[in-house]
Amino acid sequence: MPIQLLPISLANQIAAGEVIERPASVVKELVENCLDAGATHIVVDIEQGGRRRIRVRDNGIGIPKAELPLALSRHATSKISSLADLEAIQSLGFRGEALASISSVARLTLTSATAEQTDAWQVWVEGRDMVAELAPASHPQGTTVDVQDLFFNTPARRKFLRTDKTEFNHIDEVLRRIALARYDVRFQLHHNDKLVRQYTAVEQPEDYLKRVAQVCGTPFSQEAISVESESGAVRLWGWIAPAAACRHQADVQYFYVNGRMMRDRLLGHAVRQAYTDTLPEDRVPTYVLYLELPPQDVDVNVHPAKHEVRFHQARLIHDFVLHATRQVLTAHAPQPADTVT
Ligand code: ADP
Ligand code: MG
Repeated sequence: MPIQLLPISLANQIAAGEVIERPASVVKELVENCLDAGATHIVVDIEQGGRRRIRVRDNGIGIPKAELPLALSRHATSKISSLADLEAIQSLGFRGEALASISSVARLTLTSATAEQTDAWQVWVEGRDMVAELAPASHPQGTTVDVQDLFFNTPARRKFLRTDKTEFNHIDEVLRRIALARYDVRFQLHHNDKLVRQYTAVEQPEDYLKRVAQVCGTPFSQEAISVESESGAVRLWGWIAPAAACRHQADVQYFYVNGRMMRDRLLGHAVRQAYTDTLPEDRVPTYVLYLELPPQDVDVNVHPAKHEVRFHQARLIHDFVLHATRQVLTAHAPQPADTVT
């Protein structure tokens, strides 16, 4: 075969393969877009585990009519325009790939209204040709993305989907992670027209534990010790379970770096080390932790879907997290006298 440019729709499907693995990946991308748009209320509607429908509504800034078709194009983003922007990234998105990828493997409708514009507009594409149709619509300020029949045109992908229940559980987990990143936002999750989760907005830090209880369960919120540590421009805060109250399953291990949930080996290692010699054999580290540092000191542009970061001073960050968590765990550990009967 001679060298030739791939058709746009095929190039998008290939890109989709990297980020859109299952319905939960769609939910993650769409909800992150709502947050980037400044939404304070986000409603997620799921049908049949997301294979039939994923609809995400927000009350964010909306998309102007003229920009709607562009929102679905690959490499089109309103979030960065230079390398300098990328290096000081504050938004969750910046690749301009999600909507293009999703619309190449599903039937996607995007409806939006801005504060300036009195009328709402809608575009839709159906996988094939990527030519977006524009039509008037009815919508309050904000955006709705309606994704139907995920992977309808990529049977190989569709085959890998599990049961509705399993797919929904993945979606639930995605929303849990996001709910712990944004206490100030109200989230609702519906499955087959039933309200399944409702996270009300929490404004005051002293009330954050209410949401932690909703997401991680009351036992964790009651037993967890609070972490609060600062060193220069780096801050670690959150909650960690004392060794004896740690969970058997690794389902409460949430680590955020500048508001992004991470599964970073370096950070996981630091926390595990803090528990050394105290953690019962059948337990795993249990925590909800937030690391905040200047955006220039960390590179989030490592991989679109993997939860990895690169710290410019990895050793320093590791040791800071280790010491901050070990300190509270040690201070809280039962003293030998406590155990004498
Ligand atoms: P990225 O988030 O990386 O910019 P996306 O493909 O996810 O790329 O979105 C493309 C663009 O569409 C965004 O940059 C933004 O301008 C717009 N957009 C997407 N979703 C929303 C939303 N919910 N509210 C407002 N604008 C949105
Ligand atoms: Mg995005």
